Amino acid sequence: MKRPIQAPSFLSVLVLALLAACCADRMYEEAATESETQKAVPQEEPAEPSESVDPDEPAAQPVANTITPVELSDAEWRERLTDEQYHVLREKGTERKFTGALLESKTKGTYTCAGCGLALFGSETKFESGTGWPSFYAPIADGHVAEEEDKSHGWVRTEVLCGACDGHLGHVFPDGPKPTGLRYCINSASLALEPAEE
Ligand SMILES: [Zn+2]
Repeated sequence: MKRPIQAPSFLSVLVLALLAACCADRMYEEAATESETQKAVPQEEPAEPSESVDPDEPAAQPVANTITPVELSDAEWRERLTDEQYHVLREKGTERKFTGALLESKTKGTYTCAGCGLALFGSETKFESGTGWPSFYAPIADGHVAEEEDKSHGWVRTEVLCGACDGHLGHVFPDGPKPTGLRYCINSASLALEPAEE
């Protein structure tokens, strides 16, 4: 014979309600303590150099992919860079077309970041685009040139930045020559040229 289901007495409902309220209180306290502990931990730990390793594509990099992030204060950048370099690299400026010192250069070598010296482009990928800015069809190695969507000036472009110091270099467009079909349109002011040893 089944026992009839008894409606919970008023007392047990009250006890349950009190228990629930008590638990909720404790959970709240624990949560509060936790978030305070987190606050006490110093923020902005120095980021480890992030080496993006693609498991499908091991080795075969033309340049060793060890990039150490370069972080300087605004004052340090101002001291290190010329006004034009600072304007381009740190303020995302654009030099006037056909004015860059490295625009016409045919010297064999490595184009490095004028801010931090990271190798960015090999001279063998430089081509004459006719745009008035040094143009390359490929970065020297993975991770050396970072990309970011740029929605300024009312249209969407892909900004390219130095993989180490985050300095603005220029933009990349999908209308370049073979083999990549890409055109890295780079400000001469953001580059330095290290001539190859003959
Ligand atoms: Zn750099």
